[in-house]
Amino acid sequence: MKKPRFQTPSGMRDILSEELTYYQKIFDICQKMADFYGFERIETPILEQTELFSRGVGQATDIVKKEMFSFKTKGGDELTMRPEGTAPVARAYIEEGMRSRPQPVKLWYFGPFFRHEKPQRGRYRQFWQFGFEVLGEASPVIDAQIIQLFFNILGALKFKDLAVKINSIGCSTCRPRFKRILSSYLRNRASSLCSECRRRLKESSWRVLDCKEEKCQAVINNAPQMLDYLCEICHKHFKSVLEFLDELSIPYILEPHLVRGLDYYTKTVFEIVEMGKEGKSFGTLVGGGRYDNLVKILGGGVVPGCGGAAGVERIIEAMKERGVKVSSPSSPKIFLCQLGTLAKRKSLVLIERFQENKIPIAELLSKDSLRVQLERANKMGAKYVLIMGQKEALEDKIIIKDMATGRQKLVEIKKVINEIKKQLKK
Ligand code: AMP
Repeated sequence: MKKPRFQTPSGMRDILSEELTYYQKIFDICQKMADFYGFERIETPILEQTELFSRGVGQATDIVKKEMFSFKTKGGDELTMRPEGTAPVARAYIEEGMRSRPQPVKLWYFGPFFRHEKPQRGRYRQFWQFGFEVLGEASPVIDAQIIQLFFNILGALKFKDLAVKINSIGCSTCRPRFKRILSSYLRNRASSLCSECRRRLKESSWRVLDCKEEKCQAVINNAPQMLDYLCEICHKHFKSVLEFLDELSIPYILEPHLVRGLDYYTKTVFEIVEMGKEGKSFGTLVGGGRYDNLVKILGGGVVPGCGGAAGVERIIEAMKERGVKVSSPSSPKIFLCQLGTLAKRKSLVLIERFQENKIPIAELLSKDSLRVQLERANKMGAKYVLIMGQKEALEDKIIIKDMATGRQKLVEIKKVINEIKKQLKK
């Protein structure tokens, strides 16, 4: 087949109805969970000032360096299509004066994000995330609750064998010393690192720990661990988070080299993965952590925060891989067939009465052939077919056909809604 003249940009896709039922299902579960845990929904703009991300996410991060869709507007503003949700939420917290509300402020979102990455399975340039953020509370119990919340959402989506990879990356008190020790360790082994990591060494040795290249793994695995250098406050915080996770019976794996690719994290960082057979992971479904400095970096004062975000496409792919089906919204059980001009006119009005009564009804008003209409009714598995021919239309009557038994009943048009209600109740 000839390729169409216009196609979606690389890494971006149309999401059709069947696929959207998965998005809807995930959204509905998020909404229920948000209501239970007292999170309010927020939707921030797709575009933000570029500096929000270069400052918030970090100048040296892969996201800011390589992956942002940024441009200058005709008015000269430097804007970026949001690559992640936490910095915009923190921006909104400051801009909307949420600091004057009772703390903590709990917010959640569900929407598209944009990163100029190499498109591959589970990695797109436009992808959807849902995220939950708690601002204005430093207690470790929040870190555990956030993880529990994502666990519950994935559990409701029938994920099993979930595990949390968790680490603490300290704070501005303890991290600088660790960074120096890590840098010197890595510099001494620069020749065993990939070219990208040798470059990273010059800017942010920290980023090397995030490298997925095979070549770097031996060096990373033997690298010093932040956990051994945590200050007392960070150490206590991390210990409490783990104790809360124990209390909640959430299985976790200590990942001493987990740093995550965003600069704003402090203390706890985590990822949730589903462990396949033989301990094989299907990729990271959720990522998050604590960001006690983010609001301050954005000029909003000292406001601790903690949250996470989940990749909707990854979740859907994992659901499909395991054969988890999502039922589409129930299709109408009734189909209306009409024959002749008068019947078409009366059917047009009758459909509105069904609409007012909130009874879904399908039809093919644009078609004249009864055969074509009945075929469609059969195809969609209608339970009842209403047939209005020329004779019935003249007499203000309509036939109700029960498709399971083949039995037919002639009723007055004005009584058909009540009759159908009665039938549907059975
Ligand atoms: P991050 O914002 O990088 O912490 O990512 C959070 C989650 O979003 C990841 O665990 C993935 O599930 C998902 N994700 C991140 N980047 C992409 C992408 N390019 N395409 C699809 N999903 C993504």
